Amino acid sequence: MKRPINEMKVVFPSLSENERFARIAVSGFLSFADPKIDELADIKTAVSEAVTNCIVHGYPDTIGKIELAVRVFEQGRVRVRISDKGCGIEDIEKAMQPLFTTKPDEDRAGLGFAVMESFMDKIKVTSRLGKGTTVVLEKTLGTRDRL
Ligand code: ATP
Ligand code: MG
Repeated sequence: MKRPINEMKVVFPSLSENERFARIAVSGFLSFADPKIDELADIKTAVSEAVTNCIVHGYPDTIGKIELAVRVFEQGRVRVRISDKGCGIEDIEKAMQPLFTTKPDEDRAGLGFAVMESFMDKIKVTSRLGKGTTVVLEKTLGTRDRL
């Protein structure tokens, strides 16, 4: 992809209240692109699932850093990257299956990745045990005259 039209990056600790901050940060940033309400809602929901995963799974016993980076390219293409330096995922393919969770006792449904997949156009997950996890989410904003 070419250079982004606009971009931002924020880093924050994995406190549960920062899930809300991440939603607001992404939505505040994307306001320059005048997204449709439902598209913005989809992106916020996907970001919230990814950030919650960093908080709950990536750093189960500690507070670590989460990075949220958003880039917007021509034709309204949005790319969001959420990464942690936490415990990592042993088997990504398995982790992404709907209803798979490693925390069934904590009221987890195992649907976070399924939500990200259905609300976004594309998802890519990379992870290394003990090093951390990165989720890249892409979505193209709908058909208005863009910038
Ligand atoms: P739900 O999202 O429905 O509350 P969940 O978080 O368990 O449940 P997913 O979001 O689909 O479900 O994630 C599936 C599994 O992938 C998790 O149970 C966890 O084992 C693993 N996982 C996801 N994100 C991370 C992460 N950032 N670091 C480590 N493990 C992760
Ligand atoms: Mg989840």
